[in-house]
Amino acid sequence: MQGLIMDYQLTLRPLMERAYRLFGSKEIVTRTSNGLHRYTYSEFYERCGRLANGLSSLGVKDGDRVGTFAWNGYRHLELYFGVPCSGHVIHTLNIRLPEDQLAYIINHAEDRVIFVDSSLLSVLERIADRLTSVSNYVVMHTPGESLPDTSLPNIVSYEEVLEREDPDYAWPDMDEREAAAMCYTSGTTGKPKGVLYSHRAIYLHTLSSIGTSGLAIEEQDVVMPLVPMFHVLSWGIPYAATWLGCTQVYAGSFMQPRDIAELIQDEKVTYTGGVPTIWIELLNFLRNENYDISSLRRMPVGGSAAPRSLIEAYAEELDVEIVHAWGMTEMSPLGTLSYLKSYMHDWPQEEQLSARSKQGVACLNVELRAVDEHGIEVPWDGTSPGELQVRGSSVASEYYRDERSLDSFIDGWFRTGDVVTIDSEGYIQIVDRSRDLVKSGGEWISTVDLENALMAHEDVIEASVIAVPHLKWQERPLALVVSNPNTEMHPDKAVLYSLLRQSFEKWQLPDEILFVDNIPKTSVGKFDKKLLREQYKDFKLRT
Ligand code: AMP
Repeated sequence: MQGLIMDYQLTLRPLMERAYRLFGSKEIVTRTSNGLHRYTYSEFYERCGRLANGLSSLGVKDGDRVGTFAWNGYRHLELYFGVPCSGHVIHTLNIRLPEDQLAYIINHAEDRVIFVDSSLLSVLERIADRLTSVSNYVVMHTPGESLPDTSLPNIVSYEEVLEREDPDYAWPDMDEREAAAMCYTSGTTGKPKGVLYSHRAIYLHTLSSIGTSGLAIEEQDVVMPLVPMFHVLSWGIPYAATWLGCTQVYAGSFMQPRDIAELIQDEKVTYTGGVPTIWIELLNFLRNENYDISSLRRMPVGGSAAPRSLIEAYAEELDVEIVHAWGMTEMSPLGTLSYLKSYMHDWPQEEQLSARSKQGVACLNVELRAVDEHGIEVPWDGTSPGELQVRGSSVASEYYRDERSLDSFIDGWFRTGDVVTIDSEGYIQIVDRSRDLVKSGGEWISTVDLENALMAHEDVIEASVIAVPHLKWQERPLALVVSNPNTEMHPDKAVLYSLLRQSFEKWQLPDEILFVDNIPKTSVGKFDKKLLREQYKDFKLRT
């Protein structure tokens, strides 16, 4: 028997319209090179309408992918809503990717138009002649100033597009299963993989994450999403904050601890979120500088493991609750959050802190399990490790046009590649990663790609790159190289680095290249990275 309930489509339009109708006078604040830009949800909504009309004028058709290459800010937020609510797919491009990967994902997604911050033009200029689908570049430059000089073809000004368009737009009724957004994950070796989010997935992700068993954001919060808007939709925080009608604050490209402390203090930010690196830096900064950040009450921290000492220091020194979060691009992205269950508040402090330091329990719309190498679920005993598998209403079902989906999506579960234990309370703890990668400050570095590049040198016999713990970046790559015994000298490190620089960004280069006599192997002849990580876990990097 079927229920008798409306078949109401779960799309993003009502999120945007609710903010406009109920909270039209509340503000969205953005730091720009011209100072703080402020406007209201009413103006935001009107500009989303102009943007939607502008996309039609630019010839963007239903379902076309619209790239963004931008920092966090009000115009990026307009794109977050204006693009999907008018039937297009927003594709947020990671501004830190190496050029080859960037060109690959733009071509693979077949982006029709790219909206680019004027400060980031030069990156696109270098790859523009390799882009096969882009018909226009819409430049987001300082309002009132003329368009900057650029070699990019077919450029138009964002503000001019909006100025000449009508704010009234007939937002279409859409099927909730239509794609709203896409994002590529570089948490892989080889080419990045595309994840295509439906309206429904984002809607349910937002709904599940708003409540107190989720991110626990409230309407009275002043929310500053510091997770880049090109990283998995900034963890969905802008969608949640808009739906609730929160005052929102965006930091633009100003991400130094002083900038962040100043914004929290001046705008009385109560809620933020981001990778541990930002908070480690901010904590060190605040220990020496006098800023009042007492407005801040809570922040989810994830993307890499949040150290226990960080959670403790924020609670004790700054009275800020860090909620440890784990998630993935493939999950829209939240998977688990570590908050205490009601009865745990009576536990001894030490045990409470232990629970909060784990990655947490499954979010409302996520089911999870850990399985051993035979595919058997491991017990929830806090000690048996297994690969974490997940399913749920906001988890990808496959990668976008990518054969590699076959390895990751099995029997209705997504294999995360994270190795975890699950305790009797259901809290997961990540103990290892089966993917061969380094995560530095929230961005991925492929060790296999680095190894292949090093081994391309004629005098390198073997190269193995491992993640070494780092205080600020969580992990940094260390390269171990065996050089040709028939040559008198090791290859010149400077030559190896210049070889790597051909295909890697500066931040992806190993902090150190060490010459070793041999690299230990497993029984099947692979580099024994587990052993290497153990051997070098206390290695002191120069940086
Ligand atoms: P991404 O898809 O780039 O967001 O990366 C997702 C991956 O980042 C996960 O599979 C984990 O390996 C890692 N990750 C995310 N959050 C955490 C966390 N809180 N602790 C440890 N690793 C994390």
